[in-house]
Amino acid sequence: MMTAEQYEQSLRLLNFEVYMFGKRVENVVDDPIIRPSMNAVAKTYEMAQRPEYEDIMTATSHITGKRINRFTHIHQNVGDLVKKSKMGRLMGRATGCCFQRCVGMDALNALSIVTFDIDKKHGTQYNQRFIKYLTFVQENDLTCDGAMTDPKGNRALAPHQQADPDLFLHVVEERADGVVVRGAKAHQTGAVNSHEIIVMPTIAMRAEDKDYAISFALPSDAKGILYIMGRQSCDTRKLESGNLDRGNALFGGHEALVVFDDVFVPWERIFMFKEYEFAGSLVENFASYHRQSYACKVGVGDVLIGAAQTAAEYNGAERASHVKDKIIEMNHLNETLYCGCISCASEGHKEPSGTYVVDKLLANVHKQNVTRFPYEIARLAQDIAGGLMVTMPAEDDFTSPATGKWLNKYYAGNCDVPTMNRMRILRLIENLTLGTAAVGYLTESMHGAGSPQAQRIMISRLANMGEKKRAAQKLSGIEDA
Ligand code: SF4
Ligand code: FE
Repeated sequence: MMTAEQYEQSLRLLNFEVYMFGKRVENVVDDPIIRPSMNAVAKTYEMAQRPEYEDIMTATSHITGKRINRFTHIHQNVGDLVKKSKMGRLMGRATGCCFQRCVGMDALNALSIVTFDIDKKHGTQYNQRFIKYLTFVQENDLTCDGAMTDPKGNRALAPHQQADPDLFLHVVEERADGVVVRGAKAHQTGAVNSHEIIVMPTIAMRAEDKDYAISFALPSDAKGILYIMGRQSCDTRKLESGNLDRGNALFGGHEALVVFDDVFVPWERIFMFKEYEFAGSLVENFASYHRQSYACKVGVGDVLIGAAQTAAEYNGAERASHVKDKIIEMNHLNETLYCGCISCASEGHKEPSGTYVVDKLLANVHKQNVTRFPYEIARLAQDIAGGLMVTMPAEDDFTSPATGKWLNKYYAGNCDVPTMNRMRILRLIENLTLGTAAVGYLTESMHGAGSPQAQRIMISRLANMGEKKRAAQKLSGIEDA
């Protein structure tokens, strides 16, 4: 396993083509806007080195028998699935943001299932290829971007019907040694902190779309791949002096649009090619795993609840009964989320490939809750924080000789607490509910791993309505129930 320092060094060796604010980013690792997101991924390496987290953060490879980072592991039993949920909460609490590495883990697990299933039907050799690739990822302790979301263009049209055929990533040339692909993947979490990019189709497909039914993995700096960084609310605060106004002093996340400008993929890196009838299964398995991964938001919720309680104490308001009740409500909602990610793991089962997968109904219910509860937890945190969270001046005003004394005097709360500490905790709440981390805690909770309607479709498909109707009809005395 790599240390956090080795991970950082390994990224320096990559030759990414990254753009932000209209310019090429020459030094991605040290860029002040991108750096906090790298720190968050580095934390997944650091935590795996710590003996107290060994059981949660590491696993035994089912291929080599070696100790590996759990983010590269294929779940071998229900216990592995439960530990994955616990790892998400632990990491969310340690970083207070999106730590990005789950998408690759979820892509690897989904491919371990689907490559096996394709081989069984078509007599292909994808699973063997995939296991070779997985061994490479595990042995080198790599971070992978799991790239699913195509830009999708007109939502009413299938991939092959789009006015611009590139709106879904597709094969434009077949060669003896591989294929050439063109297209893009949008909203790619942690893209420029990843060594590898694993591409999957974004929707279920029919025969007409078979050129779009492709899954493969490439080094993230492969020729023809370029990255355009997404903005986050308050992102340029990272360019300012000090760290108070950032809210989260060290960590953050990022998303990017990844463009594939005629990129060559060798056959040995291709895990699905034109088997369009398996695109839906790959999407469904990846999405279910990733909906479980939203255990991360429970950990970030822990941070927000801790911040709200601290703010209340710094204000001297912690004994007010309505404040206590709001904290109880926040905990109730957050632990309800925890129930969801633990239960879908506990109810997991073994697929023919040997990989364990979560209970898909419960994973979708969990993610549906995640599209709602963090918003209510954020609302309560803002209620407790008070308006100062959005009216307080800059850190530089607190340190300026002209204004510092006034701000420290008039923004004091509980006199046992330095005013600056009070400001720090309010800025953290601002960061989590309105700033850069609100991308991860709120909007990503809404749309990441699929927007709410995607889960509702799955819930309607997976809820066993026949069984429910039979139970009701039988108890009501209907004879032939
Ligand atoms: Fe992982 Fe959560 Fe970020 Fe998705 S949103 S990559 S599950 S930390
Ligand atoms: Fe996400």
